Amino acid sequence: MRFDVITIFPGFFPGVFQHGIVRRAQAAGLVTIEAHDLRAFTHDKHRSVDDRPFGGGEGMILKPEPLAEALASLGIGPKASLPTLAQTARKDAATESERPGRPSVILLSAQGRPFTHALARELACLERVVLLCGRYEGVDERINQLFCDMELSIGDYVLSGGELAAAVVIDAVMRLVPGVLGNEASAEFESFGAPDAEIDAGIGAENGAGSECVPRSQHGAGGLLDYPHYTRPAEFAGLRVPEVLLNGDHQQIRRWRREQQIRKTLLNRPDLLEHAALSVEDRELLRNIRAWNEVRVR
Ligand code: SAM
Repeated sequence: MRFDVITIFPGFFPGVFQHGIVRRAQAAGLVTIEAHDLRAFTHDKHRSVDDRPFGGGEGMILKPEPLAEALASLGIGPKASLPTLAQTARKDAATESERPGRPSVILLSAQGRPFTHALARELACLERVVLLCGRYEGVDERINQLFCDMELSIGDYVLSGGELAAAVVIDAVMRLVPGVLGNEASAEFESFGAPDAEIDAGIGAENGAGSECVPRSQHGAGGLLDYPHYTRPAEFAGLRVPEVLLNGDHQQIRRWRREQQIRKTLLNRPDLLEHAALSVEDRELLRNIRAWNEVRVR
């Protein structure tokens, strides 16, 4: 998979991507990340990339011409047609680039749709993604209208530039590219991951029909948060690892982990429970945890 990043700070990226999985993925040729200097596409002696906003107001705006030239240098022209309002409202498919083979162009923006694990999975299926990093008050809106398939926000806060957001998106997406993680299955057993049935169907199909893939002591997250993890020593600062993890009973461990996933999700991200894949047993666990919490509050 290839990522092209258009930025006024290309020097930001090499350091970020010289470590761990992303470095190995690049070395193995699974992922290519190229940062392009927006100022290289200016033609005045000050190499200006920004200008004052029409209508007045604070701050500066990234001008459209250098961005359009930078995209052209990557072989990317305007989208085939301007989106209708209905299409703009339905910007839900990462693959909606209108020309086949045209890379998906993403504008990093606090006004964008939220970046989620589900979206990272969609993006990981693409061959090439171009990320536009805003600065100052943002990017001239016509760049969004003409070239971008999606505006993407990494959270409900305002960063000073799109570079950190681009790095977050690249990191989260590239680790889902097949072959990047040493153990293919490890991305499946993390927060926001797929439910057991999907994991079995997906990896099971790869390993041969009918093979069981979910380890005996684990659960696919099914849209929930991960469970807590522990390693040696068994006792640290007076706190012992939960006994259940030491007894070797996989069924008990599995059940405890599921309960912890539900507990943590209820505590930190109750919104996720709405769309999570919960079994009858999970729902009973959830009811019990809620009832227990109510008793504690009283
Ligand atoms: N005026 C903009 C607003 O209120 O939405 C904020 C501009 S911000 C200071 C400069 C740039 O940082 C944006 O153009 C965008 O590229 C990036 N940025 C800021 N917050 C972001 C977020 N939550 N997610 C993704 N990119 C963000």
